Amino acid sequence: MRNDLPPRRRGAVRTRLLSVIGVVGVGAVAGSLLLWHAQVGDFLGLAADKEPVVSTVSAPAVGAPPATTPAASTPTPTRRPTYPPSTPPKTPTTTPTTSTKQKTTSGVREESINGLSPKLKARLKKAMAAARADGITISITSARRSATKQQRLLNAAIKKYGSYKLATRWVLPPKYSAHVQGKAVDIGPAAAMTWLNKNGWRYGVCRRYDNEPWHFEALTAPGTKCPPREPHAVAKAD
Ligand SMILES: [Zn+2]
Repeated sequence: MRNDLPPRRRGAVRTRLLSVIGVVGVGAVAGSLLLWHAQVGDFLGLAADKEPVVSTVSAPAVGAPPATTPAASTPTPTRRPTYPPSTPPKTPTTTPTTSTKQKTTSGVREESINGLSPKLKARLKKAMAAARADGITISITSARRSATKQQRLLNAAIKKYGSYKLATRWVLPPKYSAHVQGKAVDIGPAAAMTWLNKNGWRYGVCRRYDNEPWHFEALTAPGTKCPPREPHAVAKAD
């Protein structure tokens, strides 16, 4: 027999060692999850009246193994929870999830045609009926927005594009946004955009920007040509 411990004893030591490592590991992971949660909480707290956030849940900081450092002393991980992108929502209007949907101050859902100005609403209704006759369903993804929501979209866009100037090519500040005034509508899906881009002039509804095929406004008298498109939105001096 050699100097080694008998096999059973050695096995027991190893088991204990493993369980200690296990406890430390679990603690570290739980710790970082807690940290992460607190940050997401912070973040969402900052963004006033938030939408239901679905995508945030999928990116916890579990990937990094704690190695030897105990959880308490780990430095704060990157302060960037995933956030819904600022691109317009793709959800069709057909899903009636009213309870969690954003409402404007007037109590109208953002996806409702009823938040639009009487002029755009009447024109869009006619266009939608004509599209339907052509086998195309126009879904409204965003019509009138609250100023709060618009500001939140702008903040997200500034993060995404890196500057106020670039962000406002996609999302205007509340005081310049046609959506906040009920004078713009975002539609989908792609076939509907194509249809309305081609036929909207008959109803006085025009695509306004090159970079936003989904965005339409009442820019011309029904039956007359739409004005030339603009490359993108521009915020006036702010
Ligand atoms: Zn729009």
